[in-house]
Amino acid sequence: MQEALTAEQKIRLALTGDPYRDPHFKSEGEDVVHVLSGGSLPRAWVTYHHDGERITVRCAGCKQVLGSFPADYEPVETVRCITAIQLAGHEGHMPADWPFMNITNRRTGLE
Ligand SMILES: [Zn+2]
Repeated sequence: MQEALTAEQKIRLALTGDPYRDPHFKSEGEDVVHVLSGGSLPRAWVTYHHDGERITVRCAGCKQVLGSFPADYEPVETVRCITAIQLAGHEGHMPADWPFMNITNRRTGLE
């Protein structure tokens, strides 16, 4: 008898390839994609790269450097920088495998 999957199990299946496995999301590292969104500004998919007292922000789609913000997240400067990055014209550069790239235990077919 075929057992129907619950909605939650279908989500687990889509994310990990296994309806009973918990997805494990990466939270840091240079290959982790962050989505910048807020207000009426365009969204941007980016990666963060620590560089001394600044964090360099690259477009996750085309890898171009879009800007940087202070590593201590100083609020005024950070908001100004993030706004400029969102307005940089890369809102069409959503990575093709988003959001699966941020899930470390997704089935790859190689297991
Ligand atoms: Zn781009």
